Amino acid sequence: MTPPSAHHLFHPAHGEAWATTLRSGIDHLSQALERVTGPSTGTPPELAAKLVADVDLDAPLGETGAALEELSRLYLDDAIWFHEPGYAAHLNCPVVIPALLAELFISSVNSSLDTFDQSVGGTFIERHLIDWTAERIGFTPGGPSGADGIFTSGGTQSNLQALHLARGRFARVPAERLRILASADGHFSVQKAARMLGLDDEAVICVPVDDRHRMDPAALDAALTRSVADGLVPMAVVATAGTTDFGAVDPLPRIAELCRDVRTGVTPTWLHVDAAYGGGLLASTRRRHLLDGIERADSVTVDYHKTWFQPVSASAVIVRDTSTLRHVTWHADYLNPKDAEHPNQVDKSLQTTRRFDALKLWLSLRIMGPDLIGDYFDTVIDLASDVHRALVQCPDIEVAAEPSLSTIVFRYRSPGLCIDETSRLNTRIRSALYAGGRSMVAATRINGEAWLKFTLLNPMATAADILAIVDEVRTTGGRLLMGEGAA
Ligand SMILES: *Cc1c(COP(=O)(O)O)cnc(C)c1O
Repeated sequence: MTPPSAHHLFHPAHGEAWATTLRSGIDHLSQALERVTGPSTGTPPELAAKLVADVDLDAPLGETGAALEELSRLYLDDAIWFHEPGYAAHLNCPVVIPALLAELFISSVNSSLDTFDQSVGGTFIERHLIDWTAERIGFTPGGPSGADGIFTSGGTQSNLQALHLARGRFARVPAERLRILASADGHFSVQKAARMLGLDDEAVICVPVDDRHRMDPAALDAALTRSVADGLVPMAVVATAGTTDFGAVDPLPRIAELCRDVRTGVTPTWLHVDAAYGGGLLASTRRRHLLDGIERADSVTVDYHKTWFQPVSASAVIVRDTSTLRHVTWHADYLNPKDAEHPNQVDKSLQTTRRFDALKLWLSLRIMGPDLIGDYFDTVIDLASDVHRALVQCPDIEVAAEPSLSTIVFRYRSPGLCIDETSRLNTRIRSALYAGGRSMVAATRINGEAWLKFTLLNPMATAADILAIVDEVRTTGGRLLMGEGAA
């Protein structure tokens, strides 16, 4: 007999409790969605912290409905909603429904993808998706030196693993001689990865960019030549396919040639392409050519949870040659012995217990197909270009660069304000927008000056929606200036 207290466990005997509980969750979330009027409510951190801190975790509510009501107060009522057209801040996407269906199976069945004997078909679903992505990159999967890879928790982990594999080729070279070359606009996870690999902060050489924020190949050439002349070892070049601020895609074919020509003793130099943002172009029917040259990489980061409209987490690191994954392999007798008869994904991963995140992409592809996902990304790239065309007509808006993908860096200008005042004003505009709750934009700095940024990843947002945010930026800017005049 099942003890009565066991009814919280996923079990066929509790099928009804399971279904009722999940259905009440769907009902609750649907009602919460109906109340959403903007991307945020502008709740300040002190208030959000207090609501949570007041909860006594030793005093359970004992009942789903009450816990969901509480959840609304602490979280849902003030959550940030990425499906709202006024949300244009970070690289967050509205998510596709087939992936949410997958979440139900991922969590309920709770397979762990570290070994075959904890996942069975899951192992092969993940492998099939890795092969499929590898083929879209232009790699050839299969065989002892064919392409391979693994799902990860995100671009940060994918970049870390890729750089660890590159580091593995220079096991005997002391850390202080190793260098990683990345564009000055590359993602900060490259610097973090270098630190975790035991390299100095100076180990990452920031290569200058051109006026479209792409890595300057002549500068890369010079930096590589200088490193080698100084007796240093350029263990990897990180090219970015879609920089976080400008969506810039570094000139991949030219960079690949430069990597090929470096004389480090181990050649060519490892080329990692960080396509965390631009990776969605692999599914585009209209813009795949923007990634030309990616097939010459040794490793590639793809974040499905950005431009493939998947829920967090869903990312992968894909390598040209599966044998390079040996640098993350460790055999444990109790899990994945050397003579295992089954394939064990843990041999390729930094993680051990690992969610079956691959199933989200699987069901998305099986229900929607890749072209539709690619169309979503193309749609937001088109949107960015439409918005940009309108922005360059606005005398009080300055745009930093023509968009490459779906971001636009811009700032509000008012006659008579110097650059420092303009920076301070734009920073205040951003905070005021969050507090207002109708729209959210991101911020960045260029040469120390504060700018605002749209990251457009909502295929349902229109140019009118985004231009309404611009109007709010403008009226907020004007209001803040008037307030200053009055003070
Ligand atoms: C977002 C991003 C990352 C980090 O990915 P996470 O999934 O957030 O860990 C790395 N590189 C680039 C270019 C990114 O845009």
